[in-house]
Amino acid sequence: MAYYNSIRLGENFYCYMWLGRGNNCNTSFLPSVLRGERPHVLIDPGHIRNELGEPCFDSLTQAIEKDGFKIEDVGLVIVTHTHLDHFESIDLVVEKSGALLTLSREEDEFCNTVGKMFFQALGAKPPQVNPFFYLKEGDLSLGPQNKVAIQVLSTPGHSPGSICLYLKEEKILISGDVVFFGSIGRTDFPGGSPSLLRKSIDKLSQLDVEYLVPGHSTEAGNIIAGRDKVKRNFYMVKMMLI
Ligand SMILES: [Zn+2]
Repeated sequence: MAYYNSIRLGENFYCYMWLGRGNNCNTSFLPSVLRGERPHVLIDPGHIRNELGEPCFDSLTQAIEKDGFKIEDVGLVIVTHTHLDHFESIDLVVEKSGALLTLSREEDEFCNTVGKMFFQALGAKPPQVNPFFYLKEGDLSLGPQNKVAIQVLSTPGHSPGSICLYLKEEKILISGDVVFFGSIGRTDFPGGSPSLLRKSIDKLSQLDVEYLVPGHSTEAGNIIAGRDKVKRNFYMVKMMLI
């Protein structure tokens, strides 16, 4: 069975939409954007295996290979937040590729304190986190001649140091677990905050988005394509917060 559906949204942008029955996140992938021998950027590599034992990481590796790329050639991993279904496999990516890791300072602190205790209490072993640099709100240009222009948005609420990424040229919003198709991120995990989530969603709704790529699929769907549909989705999910 195929565990991922690969969708190409731009010259340098692929999404791997999780199709399994158990929980895992969607992954974004920007191939051939960095200088040097490991030019790929991976965003939210997901679980190693999920609660149903589905081989999340092996399947992701295969899906990427099917598109002609190798996980060994990933040079940078970006994590939207440190819930295990988004970043459990980070150690494996680093082991295979030597990739550097980046996330927000707030999320790194959370991950090393409350987050660690929370996941250990659930019987899970959180991965090692050794960030190379911290993501801050603002511009992040990747690759030679700033090949990819990204706007980093600080979006706490689901997790205290959660970030979203907006690819300016392609108008793609990688929304992590802040907003989904017809739904919003839960706020009942440690460090969650409904009022901060509301502010974060307000902030995201100001962007001019052509494709919204959420961290998880819902019954309504996964990628939201088209400005009007994205706007309608923001309108609808804001009502959930009133
Ligand atoms: Zn999450």
